[in-house]
Amino acid sequence: MAQIILVRGDITEQHADAIVNAANSSLLGGGGVDGAVHRRGGPEILTECRALRASRYGKGLPTGQAVATTAGRLDAAHVIHTVGPVHSTSEDRSELLASCYRESLRVAAELGARTVAFPAISTGIYGWPIDDGARIAIATVRECAAEPVTEVRFVLFDEAAYAAFEAAL
Ligand code: ADP
Repeated sequence: MAQIILVRGDITEQHADAIVNAANSSLLGGGGVDGAVHRRGGPEILTECRALRASRYGKGLPTGQAVATTAGRLDAAHVIHTVGPVHSTSEDRSELLASCYRESLRVAAELGARTVAFPAISTGIYGWPIDDGARIAIATVRECAAEPVTEVRFVLFDEAAYAAFEAAL
């Protein structure tokens, strides 16, 4: 069982074997975490994302899936890009959000990552309520984190997100 750690801060300042990016399906950058990852990580990450679009993901990375690239100038070996679902009140998309955590952990394990840093996927531009997003994140990581991953760190940008994760934990 991996240790789950909560910190407040900017995910692009973390040292970890893998940093998870709350990407969009284009893989070509966006706002929030995605913008920060590409800004701080430098152009190498985008070059690899473009190559992924040209090869495996012509139509974009589907929601709930995850794929790794280099981490460029970030203090990490890999960035794992995952596409969270946009929150909906008419349809339960919880399984897709859980899938982001599960698939990211699967990719991390494949890469041999021991420490993995996650943002609160979908809880920004994609509108997921933070309490529910935190509950799904913690429950899924508890269920799915396995060797060689020994530490899962949630990097929460603000006090409200931190409090929600603390409550879920
Ligand atoms: P999404 O499109 O999946 O909702 P966002 O990047 O908009 O992704 O936001 C996801 C969460 O990450 C939000 O809670 C947001 O406050 C937070 N966030 C934004 N920038 C950063 C950052 N640099 N480091 C950590 N968390 C961040």
